[in-house]
Formats: sequence, C-alpha cells, structure tokens
Amino acid sequence: MAQNGSVRKRGPNILVTGTPGTGKTTTSSALAEATQLRHIIIGDLVKEKNLHDGWDDELDCYIINEDLVCDELEDLMEEGGNIVDYHGCDFFPERWFDRVVVLQTDNTVLYDRLSRRGYTGSKLSNNIECEIFQVLLQEAKESYPEDIVVALKSDTIEDISRNVASLTDWVGSWHPAS
Ligand code: ADP
Ligand code: MN
Repeated sequence: MAQNGSVRKRGPNILVTGTPGTGKTTTSSALAEATQLRHIIIGDLVKEKNLHDGWDDELDCYIINEDLVCDELEDLMEEGGNIVDYHGCDFFPERWFDRVVVLQTDNTVLYDRLSRRGYTGSKLSNNIECEIFQVLLQEAKESYPEDIVVALKSDTIEDISRNVASLTDWVGSWHPAS
C-alpha cells in the first residue's frame, strides 16, 4: 500500500513546452508512442471541451481559460503518466510535473517552419521574438524547480530522434517517490 494515503502514480508527468513550431507535438507524439504515456495537446482539449473565453481576433487564437483547463486535467495529472503539450507553462500547478522539457529552435529555421505553416505579419514576428528571447525557457525556470527543467535543441529530425530516445530512457528509469 502507498504510504501516507498517497496513491502511486502510473507514470511520470512530463510537460513539453516551447514556442509554436519548435516541435512539441511531433516530439510528444513520438514519445507517447515509445512510452505508452498519454499525450494531451492543450490546444485541442481547449477547442473540444470549450475551455476558452472566445476567440482573440488580434492574436488569432482562442482565449484560453486557465482555470477550466486546470480543473479539467486535475484527475488525470494525479493519476500520472501524461505528456502535456502546450506553448505556455506558468499556469499549471508546479506539483503536477516530474519533468519540464523546453524545445528550442534556431530562429531562421523556425521562421521557415512558421511561414510554411501560414504564419505572417505580427503572428510570425511575435513567435520569432518569443524564441529569440527564450521566453518559454525563462517562464519554465520561474515556474518549476531548476532540476526538473531541461532545454533541448529541436532544429533537425535527428534532434527529434535523439530527444525522444533520451526522454524514453528517462521515463524507463523513473520511479514514483514513496
Ligand atoms: P509545435 O507543436 O511545437 O507547434 P510541431 O510538432 O507541430 O510544432 O512542428 C511544426 C512543424 O515543424 C511540423 O511540420 C514538423 O514536422 C516540423 N518540425 C518540428 N520540429 C522539427 C525538427 N526538430 N526537425 C525538423 N522538422 C521539425
Ligand atoms: Mn503543436
């Protein structure tokens, strides 16, 4: 029986964050496949379950309702074994995550990726700036203990393979704290 009335988690919870286009969904999908962890794409969940306060015309995205998202996820996160995929990290409870992965991409590579995705104008330049100023890495460092935050380069397909392999190893050697 678990001690102190706490329930053993079925696996670690990993947050995969980074500027849009850095490869969060590609990396998380491959990691989920390799580890059997559950991949939760916050953007999709927000749309499916209406966890937003409408559409922001200026930013061209949903106005995410952070409280609704956290309420929706609480039970799953307590159960463990999740990969959470989102381009933000400062509103989730700190206690949820065992590992916080920040993907980073060279800004000229990212520029091409986001252009191909159809981003133009301020939506494109805002995201490039976000990457140049390492906004997500700063946010992660301010929101979680230093020793669980890891920044990984995501410029090439080889980077993805290497990142997935090392994260898979980490998941394999993870043990719930007793
Ligand atoms: P995010 O979820 O962070 O917005 P995606 O995983 O959707 O990013 O990737 C955006 C696009 O860039 C996809 O077409 C994907 O194939 C490509 N891509 C992402 N990461 C890499 C990488 N490390 N090397 C090559 N292409 C990548
Ligand atoms: Mn994505």
